[in-house]
Amino acid sequence: MSASVPTIGQTVDESACAEAERRLQEYVDRCLTREQVVAIEAHLAACPRCSNCYAFEQEVRAHVRAACAEPCPEALKLRLRKLCTDCE
Ligand SMILES: [Zn+2]
Repeated sequence: MSASVPTIGQTVDESACAEAERRLQEYVDRCLTREQVVAIEAHLAACPRCSNCYAFEQEVRAHVRAACAEPCPEALKLRLRKLCTDCE
C-alpha cells in the first residue's frame, strides 16, 4: 500500500515532518538558528503529530533532569558501599 490518501482538512507535507523530526532534538537543546526555530515552531503549530512528538521529547527531558537533580540517597550509598566490600 503505497498510495497516499489525502486527509480531509489540512494536508501536512511529509517531508516537512521528516525535517521537523530530525531537528526536534536540536530544537529541544536550543541548538538551532533563529530561522530554524521559526520554521520548526510553525510546523509544530500546524502538525499535531510532530507537536505530540515534541511534547513527549520535553517530558523525557524533564524526567532526565529531575533524575539528575535528585541526590543519591544516603541509604542507597551505604548499601552500595556494603555491596562493594562484600564482593572484595
Ligand atoms: Zn509534522
